[in-house]
Amino acid sequence: MPDETVIDGFEFARMRRELRGEAALSRMQRLDDLLASGSGQVKYRITGEIDEEGHSLLHLDVEGALKLKCQRCLGEIDYPLGIRSNLMLVKDEADLVDIEDEDPDVDSIVVTGKMEILPMIEDEILLELPYAPRHVECEGSDGGDDGRESPFAVLKGRI
Ligand SMILES: [Zn+2]
Repeated sequence: MPDETVIDGFEFARMRRELRGEAALSRMQRLDDLLASGSGQVKYRITGEIDEEGHSLLHLDVEGALKLKCQRCLGEIDYPLGIRSNLMLVKDEADLVDIEDEDPDVDSIVVTGKMEILPMIEDEILLELPYAPRHVECEGSDGGDDGRESPFAVLKGRI
């Protein structure tokens, strides 16, 4: 299987190409802190398109089952990932401004050369994930603090 992790975005869009693959989470360093387990992978699909106005678009779908690390108890949280994002490719920053006003579902990105797929997928995952993932209720605790005395514990006895 060819490891096609770099594409020419504009050509990809013009040729309306499609690329499917799997990306190993272990190769996404920036996700590391958020994941309880860095093993496994996500599936992705990228399709290219030129819209009616001649803009170059890439549609990116990413799916997978992540295990996030609870920032309170450090346990695992199952997190089903399902991302669909639309990227509009522009050649320089001057084009960014007007396009951004048009469609909130489309993110414009400046592309000057080849595009690396993995960091792009990682960016999308980072945008999707909660900043500090936590269980709604951590296992083995009654209400979810991390074992330290709550500042309100003192008050409780008085009410
Ligand atoms: Zn937890």
